[in-house]
Amino acid sequence: MQFDYIIVGGGSAGAVLASRLSENGAKQVALFEAGPDTPPDDVPDVIADSYPGLSYFDPRYHWTQLRVYNRSPRLNSQPPKTAKLEQAKVMGGGSSINGQFAVRGLPHDYDEWEGLGLKGWGWEGMLPYLKKLERDLDFDGELHNRNGNIPIRRVFPEDWGGFTKSVLKETEKEYPYRPDYNASFEDGSFPLPLSNENERRVSTAVGYLHKEARARKNLHIFANAFVENLIIEGKRATGVRVTIGGDTKTYSAREVIVSAGALHSPAILMRAGIGPAGQLARLGIDVVADLPGVGENLTDHPHIAVGAHFRKSARLRPGQRRHIFLGVRYSSNHADCHTGDMLLMPVNRAGWHPLGKAMGALNVCVNKSYSRGTVTLKSRDQNEEPIVDLNLASDGRDLMRLVDGFKRIYRIMTAPDVQRHVNTWFLAGYSDEARALSVRKASNWIKTASAAYAFDYLPFFREELLKRKFGTTDRMHKMMQDEELIVEWVKQSVWSGWHVSGTCKMGPEDDPLAVLDDRCRVRGVEGLRVVDASIMPTIVAANTNITTIAMAEKAADLILDSSH
Ligand SMILES: Cc1cc2nc3c(=O)[nH]c(=O)nc-3n(C[C@H](O)[C@H](O)[C@H](O)COP(=O)(O)OP(=O)(O)OC[C@H]3O[C@@H](n4cnc5c(N)ncnc54)[C@H](O)[C@@H]3O)c2cc1C
Repeated sequence: MQFDYIIVGGGSAGAVLASRLSENGAKQVALFEAGPDTPPDDVPDVIADSYPGLSYFDPRYHWTQLRVYNRSPRLNSQPPKTAKLEQAKVMGGGSSINGQFAVRGLPHDYDEWEGLGLKGWGWEGMLPYLKKLERDLDFDGELHNRNGNIPIRRVFPEDWGGFTKSVLKETEKEYPYRPDYNASFEDGSFPLPLSNENERRVSTAVGYLHKEARARKNLHIFANAFVENLIIEGKRATGVRVTIGGDTKTYSAREVIVSAGALHSPAILMRAGIGPAGQLARLGIDVVADLPGVGENLTDHPHIAVGAHFRKSARLRPGQRRHIFLGVRYSSNHADCHTGDMLLMPVNRAGWHPLGKAMGALNVCVNKSYSRGTVTLKSRDQNEEPIVDLNLASDGRDLMRLVDGFKRIYRIMTAPDVQRHVNTWFLAGYSDEARALSVRKASNWIKTASAAYAFDYLPFFREELLKRKFGTTDRMHKMMQDEELIVEWVKQSVWSGWHVSGTCKMGPEDDPLAVLDDRCRVRGVEGLRVVDASIMPTIVAANTNITTIAMAEKAADLILDSSH
């Protein structure tokens, strides 16, 4: 069958495209997703749960071979070491496994894109799509919509855990409480909006690939369908080669849209001969289009955290699922950085297991980051994951804002109202060990149940163990006396916020690293677009899911518009 559109990847962006492009019954649309499907009436509990700590780490819904460098091996300052990074392999993509934070970027983020030469991608051009996607359950008015595909709600302070309430008391002294994060652009302490209704996650696989969309005869959804390669004839993309259930077949289309996410989309382009010519030639790949920007400009939100073992007063009430409620948007006031560039979040539970329920953290992330990493191919084999160098905190502005973030965390954690909820503070991170413990299975429950008991009832054991393994308050006091110690700790423990983006960026013709034009078309190749988080020219000062969905909404209009 000849399709009008083939979409590679049914993630946050791909599911939106499939839904919108198939609204017109005359267009034949095929969606290929490598992971399993999650139709609205059959969403696994692990995914639907308001507590996202289960889906984050469940290997059934990930690309399990993927590893990344958090700090670049190019920095030569430490032995290069890779870490796990979860990327979704399931219908709905990131929106099916993410933290459900449903936050918009700031107006100036989008205006920055327009300023880079991307006409129509500024705040004025994006707002209609940010509105179109949402069904805000709490707020109405000019900046909101009550009829979109993704329900957005907040948990308000009366339902927060004790720890988070105590942190709010501190933060609101400087950053006043404001209820609507998505419509207030000043600094403040906000209840974080969530893509969730009735205590269930709403992914794009549910909100966009809803029953009516799935009933369309012209929409063909293939799950567990791994796209091996693009088919390119001359300078035109004509289809894809796909493996489904052990069979490999080719499918052709008038237009192919790659929506495989910011790490896999550039890899797919490069394997098809679209990317930096030198790198492709070294791997024996015939060059179709020499685009040096493919895989460059990898941007993420770097995070640091201080962990806490809670007293009972700080913990969530039994049965409560949601664990992060408050986001404090603040301005670092660092030279050359925009206002609203930082986010601080108290975490009121650190895991699904008994120990995790007794723990939490204070997180800081650079929301408008400047460090840039790369995605390169290790080999031309489609089954081999690319080399991902996140290069976090390599830009001095990012590093020093995290250092300042640590000092802010310290001030909050030593405030008496917060301190009285906490037994022990410790320097935390997302190590592979912590990740492995976060997979829900009986052996992890048993391990953590005994540790949880010991932590509650043997304080000496808890103090000693956390001190040796991570460093506790004594070490933090010392760090506050010597900034170099903070710098070193940040470099060692910085981790990815899972907001990879920018690796196939849009840009004007005179930008040598621009992969796409402002209609998401791949330069130098006909019939090929990329639409997903990889197309952002710069990262937004917000978690990336809502912006990715809005971009896909806008791209769908551009695609349909150019098909007339
Ligand atoms: C653990 C985690 C937590 C996060 N938390 C938040 C949050 O709380 N709020 C927020 O705003 N953002 C969050 N994010 C980020 C956000 O979810 C992503 O920015 C967003 O999902 C990116 O969408 P995308 O369409 O670019 O890629 P994805 O949603 O990742 O979609 C890509 C899809 O393509 C498929 N694919 C890849 N290669 C192939 C192939 N060869 N063949 C077929 N299919 C393929 C993948 O399986 C995947 O389903 C989080 C992300 C993760 C991973």
